[in-house]
Amino acid sequence: MKTLIIFFLALSSFVTATAQVKPPTETAMDRFLRYAKIDTQSAEDQATVPSTRKQFDLARLLEKELKGLGVRDVRVSEFGIVYGMVPGNLADNSKVPTIGFIAHMDTSPAVSGANVTVNIVKNYQGGDIVLPNDKTQVISVAKNPDLKNLIGDDIITADGTTLLGSDDKSGCAEIMTMIDTLKQNPGIKHGNIAIAFTPDEEVGGGIDKFEIEKWGAKFAYTVDGEQLGDISNETWSARTATVTFHGKNTHPGTAKGIMINSLYAAGDFLANFPANAPNRPETTEGRVGFVHPYSANMTEETSTIKILIRDFDLSGVAAKETLLKSIVAKTQKKYPTVKIDYESKLGYLNMKEVLKNYPQLTDYAIEAAKRAGVPSELRPIRGGTDGSNLTARGLPTPNLFTGGHNFHGKLEFNSRKGLEKTTDTLVNLVQIWAEGQNRLR
Ligand SMILES: [Zn+2]
Repeated sequence: MKTLIIFFLALSSFVTATAQVKPPTETAMDRFLRYAKIDTQSAEDQATVPSTRKQFDLARLLEKELKGLGVRDVRVSEFGIVYGMVPGNLADNSKVPTIGFIAHMDTSPAVSGANVTVNIVKNYQGGDIVLPNDKTQVISVAKNPDLKNLIGDDIITADGTTLLGSDDKSGCAEIMTMIDTLKQNPGIKHGNIAIAFTPDEEVGGGIDKFEIEKWGAKFAYTVDGEQLGDISNETWSARTATVTFHGKNTHPGTAKGIMINSLYAAGDFLANFPANAPNRPETTEGRVGFVHPYSANMTEETSTIKILIRDFDLSGVAAKETLLKSIVAKTQKKYPTVKIDYESKLGYLNMKEVLKNYPQLTDYAIEAAKRAGVPSELRPIRGGTDGSNLTARGLPTPNLFTGGHNFHGKLEFNSRKGLEKTTDTLVNLVQIWAEGQNRLR
């Protein structure tokens, strides 16, 4: 009963707080437009973190802006990770866990992020959106049913020649605007909030350099999802298999009876992959996993094929490994003189394996979205996030929406409402964490 009363008190103080919320000094939209102009494209297969020096351009800007907002302990690490801490304003901040928020600064290597020219469709009235500098690039209602929910909104796109970089500069802008809103409204009560902006999310590797302990968050959220309401506490469980075919090379002029060409066995192995669903990425969706050969290096002496194994359930991963091993055995039988080795490595684990023990992370996020007027649902991600890595390393980190759509392509878009509702959700979320502790006391 006591808990209930405190809960209602907390709720009523929230209602008063929302009625008086002062706007931030700068909108999430204006921040986003500034960040979108900075080219932060990451690059595959680089030896350094960050993979491209230009990611420091946004890192330094965010560092400066964080300091301008009074954030403490702001620093950019040698790896280009921006860290900061927003101190809580509770009587005793130690009673509330420190909550972290993370967005990534880089954009996908798939499409250029240089000279992004933003196109704003003001007061969108429905219909397809033709991008101004390449009329073949069309954001159609048929392929983007969420457009129907954006009537009257201001839609933000690129000009058809680049990606927009909403993934994940929207997350950066939303987190910055949350901090700004909290600063303007000391009446909004919250615990300590850890902030981080990461490089190289799109190419992997950046998050390996993340200093979890020093950062100080007990739980965190990546703000890197898609349409309003999408909250994710599930990613793939991922393994990568390497199949090596050992042949024997010799000069082809004198090869008779000696040469064993590994390419034939490797080619036969690939030809034996089942073509039908549910085994390939090009034939699967939703909760169905796949096996996916993605790279091969072939010479007569040795051929190597790398294969992604993806499933939401560990039993599904195991079944796919069994399938691959059976194809190896079949190939081995057909090519007895070629020695075939199979090995596989864990990439990352479905974060649900850990997050199922902390249901409050997504429960609070769902409540925060609801208070912002956003109906939400848990949607698994057919990929990994920085949060998969952090969760596996002991920092439980689900993923929140940003309002963005069509990541990694020229048809990427977000909207004013997408940015603002996400910011509101973040502001609500830190309050709910503070209220959550009241409920427990
Ligand atoms: Zn992203």
